[in-house]
Amino acid sequence: AKEEGKKGYKIYKEEMYIKKIEFINMKKSLRYGVKNEEFFLTYQSVVDLKKDQAIGSEALIRWNHPKKGLISPDRFIPIAEKTGIIKEIGKWVLETACKQNKIWIDKGYKPTKISINMSALEFKQINFVSNIKRVLEETGLDSKYLVIEITENIVLENLNQTIEILNELKKMKIKIALDDFGTGYSSLNYLRILPIDFLKLDKTFINNVTKKCKDRAITESLIKLAHDIGLKVVAEGIETEEQYHYLKNINCDLGQGYLFNRPLPSNEFEKILEKGL
Ligand code: C2E
Ligand code: CA
Ligand code: CA
Ligand code: CA
Repeated sequence: AKEEGKKGYKIYKEEMYIKKIEFINMKKSLRYGVKNEEFFLTYQSVVDLKKDQAIGSEALIRWNHPKKGLISPDRFIPIAEKTGIIKEIGKWVLETACKQNKIWIDKGYKPTKISINMSALEFKQINFVSNIKRVLEETGLDSKYLVIEITENIVLENLNQTIEILNELKKMKIKIALDDFGTGYSSLNYLRILPIDFLKLDKTFINNVTKKCKDRAITESLIKLAHDIGLKVVAEGIETEEQYHYLKNINCDLGQGYLFNRPLPSNEFEKILEKGL
């Protein structure tokens, strides 16, 4: 048994070692990828469920790795966060998305908001707000067309600082969305304290919203609650007509999902803007 234990430990150590190597390699190739312009943004419509009209889009990053092909953000964002490279990536995302939205507005498409995902580490940089100001100035995008998406883990470390920063963004007329609500350590307290505009209901709720009465009850109550405190609700991951009609019926304000469109590269998304929704 002792031998087996030793063996197990050896395997464990080897696995740890491989993991560590993978981590270091990933870190290197992430850094290289930023320089080498291997990242691109995709865009997904945010739809007003009452008017059946797109009122914005969310920018979602993709990594086109020269050897490994397309890598999803769920795989590399956590490593980018751990290594701090997210700061460079985030800066690039903000600049690229604002620039693109301004181009679309200038081309004469109906002006819509662009939503950008923000990691905790980016949010905590001392020059976070001034950097956003600079990007808006340089791209010429009106701040009312920018939405910053945050998650609750931004709040965990320093609530007062978070509120201060959010208030500064609000003063600039930038809108704020609380993403992935209902997963992790959601606290209703945050809804009360944080100066946010949109509540994004995680797609794990939406998945079963037409089948499970518990998920229905929670979704309906959250929408009511959000409305009572002046927030708009965005449902994520709408894939079926059934989900769409149900959410529309219970007064959910906005929605995103494959039913409307998948996240698309800028040239393909532009075709959707041309057609209108
Ligand atoms: P998120 O912000 O919650 O984004 C929603 C995710 O749901 C996206 O995954 C989107 O492609 C996917 N999705 C949209 N509609 C549907 C649907 O109908 N069904 C299903 N099954 N999925 C749907 P994606 O693009 O893989 O992004 C994953 C996560 O990576 C994002 O979750 C976000 O947390 C993070 N992320 C993406 N882009 C950025 C970025 O530029 N910066 C940072 N910091 N994080 C990012
Ligand atoms: Ca998001
Ligand atoms: Ca989300
Ligand atoms: Ca998510």
